[in-house]
Amino acid sequence: MGLFRHRRDYQLPEDWEDQVSAVVVRWFDHSVEERTTMRDLIVRLLGEKRWEAANGFTLTEEMRLIISAQAAMLILGLDWSAYRKVGDIIVHPTTLVLRGERASASMMGLATDEPMAILGQADHEGGPIVLVWDETERNARHPERGFNVVFHEFAHKIDMLDGVVDGTPPLATVELHERWVAACTAEFEAIRAGAGSHLLRDYAGTNAGEFFAVVTEVFFDQGTELQEDRPELYAVLSAFYRQDPAARERTHR
Ligand SMILES: [Zn+2]
Repeated sequence: MGLFRHRRDYQLPEDWEDQVSAVVVRWFDHSVEERTTMRDLIVRLLGEKRWEAANGFTLTEEMRLIISAQAAMLILGLDWSAYRKVGDIIVHPTTLVLRGERASASMMGLATDEPMAILGQADHEGGPIVLVWDETERNARHPERGFNVVFHEFAHKIDMLDGVVDGTPPLATVELHERWVAACTAEFEAIRAGAGSHLLRDYAGTNAGEFFAVVTEVFFDQGTELQEDRPELYAVLSAFYRQDPAARERTHR
């Protein structure tokens, strides 16, 4: 396993933004101010979190940049403290297959049959974020598909901020909390009944934590579609994340 030690003086390579935007295709949809904010978040992710390559993988700086850039996009409207529950970040080369012990519900799985294929994991408070590199890269290149393992796993860590993975992150006001619970509960129950938004895959019905992680992926990747299909769900996510991906898409389409 290759370890990357904490480096508080982390310096980005000069061409960092070329490296990021070559893969993270929506990078330049963000304004200069937004990219400056995200740059600081990327430096902190690279310098202050512990990164580890698994299974003999060679985890390059470019890969860590691409992962960090997506993680920074998620908390652009929040702040660095949103990642205080993020510990180690472990990157595997390709899909993990878990055998034997049953997969926990907080994993992002490809299939429910055993053995279970895993694309990422952010299992428990204090536990590592596990990512699969090839899927991470695919997601960054093809946001229109609505899958993003980085958004998904980092969203689980945001959900954990209040100490419990229940699909409800800390919300600013009682009113927003009530709107959040109403919108998310209605959609979650619709998914469980087989009548959810076509944008939200069945996996969102696993539990409230998975619902939040999957909706987060779709909110950022398919914001316009989600806003059209489920305006109130889009509105509460927009109020929480303090971002409006649909407006950003309109500007850049
Ligand atoms: Zn998950």
